[in-house]
Amino acid sequence: MKVYALLLCGGSGTRMGGSGNKTLLEIGGVPGIVRCCRAYEGLADGIVLVTRAREEALFARVLAEWGVTAPVKIVPGGEDRQASALRGLQALPDRDGMALIHDGARPLVTGDVIRRVIDSVRTCGSGAAAVPARDTIKRADAHGRVVETPDRASLWQMQTPQGFFVRDLLRAHESAGDRRYTDDAALMEAAGFPVQLVMGDYRNVKMTSPEDWKMAQGMMVPRIGTGFDAHRLVENRALWLGGVCIPYEKGLDGHSDADAAVHALIDALLGAAGMGDIGALFPDSDDAYKGISSVILLKETARRIREKGYEIGNADVTILAQRPKMAPYIPAMRQALAEALGIPQARVSVKATTTERMGYEGRGEGISAQAAALIYETV
Ligand code: MG
Repeated sequence: MKVYALLLCGGSGTRMGGSGNKTLLEIGGVPGIVRCCRAYEGLADGIVLVTRAREEALFARVLAEWGVTAPVKIVPGGEDRQASALRGLQALPDRDGMALIHDGARPLVTGDVIRRVIDSVRTCGSGAAAVPARDTIKRADAHGRVVETPDRASLWQMQTPQGFFVRDLLRAHESAGDRRYTDDAALMEAAGFPVQLVMGDYRNVKMTSPEDWKMAQGMMVPRIGTGFDAHRLVENRALWLGGVCIPYEKGLDGHSDADAAVHALIDALLGAAGMGDIGALFPDSDDAYKGISSVILLKETARRIREKGYEIGNADVTILAQRPKMAPYIPAMRQALAEALGIPQARVSVKATTTERMGYEGRGEGISAQAAALIYETV
């Protein structure tokens, strides 16, 4: 059964105190909507992103800049949440699968929550993420006088995703007519469909006010790593550095393309994540990596780091070489590295220096590189 994620990003964001779309605000260095898309990558067959009118191009640009690879269709929303959800449903390529409707303002959703919702739709026909209420909830009249204290044990706070069969959702929208509901579970209940709750996550908060955003920022713990690599310069080899082939009389010797700059960066990332080093992940005893482009290894490193729940903040690489001149190639290196990491070019720095003819770099026997990388862990 096809699984579609429907990300609602049409909120006005006025309570966040800005006129911009709050789903584009950064949390731990990454726009919220990019975090959402990455959470659904690999779990959903397709993503439909419902934006405010005339924001489609802006969202497309942000997703491209952050290297979001999942198939994303961007459509303009309606006048309120319910209308936007319906627009999203109508934009799906077919009506046979399930739709996971998700608030774009919940960027900290995890793969575990999404998987629980998908499993519940498969087995029960519905699955809505929720957490048991921690606070005692009161019902009060218009003057604030308590009318009733419902039993807390039976109270749940709703989150998203909320998953249902596309067909059922469309039928519920039809039967709702002009009546408005605050979430899709309520819409389904009103139409007579059973709604199954599944365990959400207390960290899966909705960014409504600046306080929510500050709280989410507080959950982001930065981790830093450094890397170093050096390779010998030899005849009859191409010179690869920072993912770019540089015309020169010699090249770096090694099992892969021997791109010391990329190798140092990979080690910096793995160091930040506490995931070992390049030799352990891509052993040079393995023929699969013979002559391989190191950029492919960098891309795979970024994928594995995100798989562990980290996001990449920024990276800084320094190349130590007496010759050739690196300056003309640095923009291309930044572009290649940023693309492989799935972060904007502005977050990737490449610098080069000579060693004033000192040491093996200075004598032209080899080239070395150092790197630092910052990643964020959500705690
Ligand atoms: Mg190396």
